[in-house]
Amino acid sequence: MVHESSATVYELAHYVGGQRVDGTSGRFGDIYDPCAGRVQGRVPFASAEEVHNAVSAAEKGQAEWAAINPQRRGRILLKFVDLVNEHLDEIATLLSREHGKTLADARSDVQRGIEVVEFAAGAPHLLKGEFSDSVGTGLDVHSLRQPLGVVAGISPFNFPAMIPLWQCGPALAAGNAFVLKPSERDPSVPLRLAELFTEAGVPDGVFSVVNGDKEAVDALLEDPRVKAIGFVGSTPIAQYIYATAAAHGKRAQCFGGAKNHMVIMPDADLDMAADALIGAAYGSAGERCMAISVAVPVGEETGDRLIAALQDRIKGLTVGPSLEKGSDFGPVVTPAAKERIEGYIAAGVEEGATLVTDGRGAKVEGYDGGFWVGPTLFDRVTPEMSIYQHEIFGPVLSVVRAEDYEEALRLCSENPYGNGVAIFTRDGDSARDFASRVEVGMVGVNVPIPVPIAYYTFGGWKASGFGDLNQHGPDAFRFYTKTKTVTSRWPSGIRQGAHFVMPEGS
Ligand code: NAD
Repeated sequence: MVHESSATVYELAHYVGGQRVDGTSGRFGDIYDPCAGRVQGRVPFASAEEVHNAVSAAEKGQAEWAAINPQRRGRILLKFVDLVNEHLDEIATLLSREHGKTLADARSDVQRGIEVVEFAAGAPHLLKGEFSDSVGTGLDVHSLRQPLGVVAGISPFNFPAMIPLWQCGPALAAGNAFVLKPSERDPSVPLRLAELFTEAGVPDGVFSVVNGDKEAVDALLEDPRVKAIGFVGSTPIAQYIYATAAAHGKRAQCFGGAKNHMVIMPDADLDMAADALIGAAYGSAGERCMAISVAVPVGEETGDRLIAALQDRIKGLTVGPSLEKGSDFGPVVTPAAKERIEGYIAAGVEEGATLVTDGRGAKVEGYDGGFWVGPTLFDRVTPEMSIYQHEIFGPVLSVVRAEDYEEALRLCSENPYGNGVAIFTRDGDSARDFASRVEVGMVGVNVPIPVPIAYYTFGGWKASGFGDLNQHGPDAFRFYTKTKTVTSRWPSGIRQGAHFVMPEGS
């Protein structure tokens, strides 16, 4: 259901056992309309008991789901993809209204999510095990991948469709039941996706949504029936989830924050690089984990040309209502986010960076209370400054000038985060060297936001990712399954008696 824009405040629910279930804890969180700058809805915060009930429903549904052969599970997931496509405009509108990203960007959020579900529908192939014939006389070995049981995902506000679908697509395809604790900022889309999973034929309980805060997350972490946790969000919470999940004997993959750099070599096509930077730094108001927040031009002349090219383009940007055509990007998600971003801009000025364009005080006609922050550009930022060291997660681009290629490479590699990085150059040798040596998980060569497609894996290094297996691609199937190895012999009647020596491989 799409909520009509009005002064009334809507109330959401959880989704458990194949239906919406009202919250009983009495605790709620506010959902903002970031364009209007007012509270438009409230979301119940689940108690530990409500989470327990969702896990029980998941456990009940999982056995039935796992018993369906993987090809048929895949067909159900493809039916879900069809339903999402049928309802794409409705879902994207719901997403824009709570998140604040433009409608076109909201559609991509959904699209990049369902691409992983399409990939996961190939589960019959991805779940295949190995077989070795005659490893000893009459002795065969085979391995199989089995679902873990009940698994959980905890997702951030900035991709309310894509990240939950990246987590649950492979998990469900592998035969698990999935309990999602989405962001409390924009939970309407995950709830709508839950309804579409049911409509597609996913058995009751197999996909649940429990809304909430730390209490719900901790209940999932502590429940012994939950076997794995997929987390995406900020680094401090990623570290907390990773450590707590491990302490409770669960496997975890936890993806954290980012500070993505883009190196611009003197030989780069400057217009192309500037266009790429504008989209990558300011698209979705900079609220993307793969946004470029640091530009590193190599050489003073490249730096001067880049700043001029960026200034030109920034003048043409339109910050505006998410659902109106012509807006390049919308508001940031909450008043707290706006305050944090503006605080960083003030700190940058105080610490001596050159503020080329100031996004503070941005106004949009008819939307006075909206959480607007305009495109902000800093030049001559240095690694000691707080605007360089911290993830700002807003439309703020810092230019750090490097004297030469080695200094630029070092900056990217020494940054504590290691999510994405890009190099713009016309020189294949530099590009190849950069891709090989940089200490970052995802690299773009003349591509500013190198988000790998569904059949490759997505994951950052260092403070951007904890755990050894990435999201989507074949890694996801390894993460959401356990391997069983069977060694078998069919004796032909020859009895040799007991053996007391460990058998050798040959
Ligand atoms: P967040 O860390 O505040 O919240 C993420 C999730 O954790 C939410 O569901 C939230 O309810 C929960 N949470 C928050 N505080 C918690 C606590 N104390 N205990 C337990 N759970 C808690 O992140 P956010 O603001 O929603 O999202 C933005 C962040 O996510 C940015 O840092 C961004 O870089 C990162 N992100 C990373 C990736 C990636 O793949 N590396 C992708 C998207 C977003």
